[in-house]
Amino acid sequence: MTDQGRVALVTGGSRGIGRAICERLAADGYRVAVNYASRADAADEVVGNIVAAGGVAFAVGADVGDAEAVEAMFVAVEAELGPVEVLVNNAGITRDGLLMRMSESDWDDVIATNLSSVFLCTKRALKGMVRARWGRIVSVSSVSGIAGNPGQANYAASKAGIIGFSKSVSKEVGSRNITVNVVAPGFIETDMTEALGEDVTSAVTANIAVGRLGTTHEIASAVGYLASPEAAYITGHVLVVDGGIAL
Ligand code: NAP
Repeated sequence: MTDQGRVALVTGGSRGIGRAICERLAADGYRVAVNYASRADAADEVVGNIVAAGGVAFAVGADVGDAEAVEAMFVAVEAELGPVEVLVNNAGITRDGLLMRMSESDWDDVIATNLSSVFLCTKRALKGMVRARWGRIVSVSSVSGIAGNPGQANYAASKAGIIGFSKSVSKEVGSRNITVNVVAPGFIETDMTEALGEDVTSAVTANIAVGRLGTTHEIASAVGYLASPEAAYITGHVLVVDGGIAL
């Protein structure tokens, strides 16, 4: 076990926004557990980048929608780095389609990966945080969960669920110096948005005040702030980082 710097666990840290969050937290001095679902190669690359920059990181595979896998992930992180002090619930998937054609598995998969994961990881992380009387939980929602988006009833429900969940839990643990917040990104350049295609992307960009998609670093910087000791008086908050999108 390495014993310097607080321990952060980022779910879905292997790619996109999660990768930028891992690199940001490592640059801020945290020792980072980089969770992934199947892309061990991508997670190893993130760990390699962090170590090359002088930081400490560890890759841990787990399907965060699966209770047993989440327990095993926390046991592995605790053995390697120590108790989780900062949890970033970032892992997420889309299974888009109009409701009339949405299958039960498209609903269940999105709810399990995007929302049940937040319940499972937050509950497990709180054990150590309550004992330590300090903790930071930041979950990545989406503007879809605030405004809704046609074709994303499952995704928007999962992302809106994260908001209600976080506001409730923030009221349960605030007295223990544990903050629980949400970052709600707009459209960010990642594999997830690349799948939308150029036509949809330029239509979306026309409705963004700053005239472009966001970068993963712009989300990581919001998460980094909420995870920091400086943000001790912010809890139950939803920080929208969307470049001023009109939805
Ligand atoms: P991404 O590039 O598709 O990366 C998804 C990440 O989640 C990968 O690291 C993936 O691991 C991991 N993951 C997927 N299912 C998982 C599971 N069951 N267990 C553990 N990890 C799992 O996505 P992104 O665009 O960075 O999105 C990150 C978060 O931001 C998501 O919650 C997403 O909903 C939210 N968000 C994104 C945007 C956007 O515009 N991109 C906007 C609003 C909100 P593998 O590498 O192993 O597959």
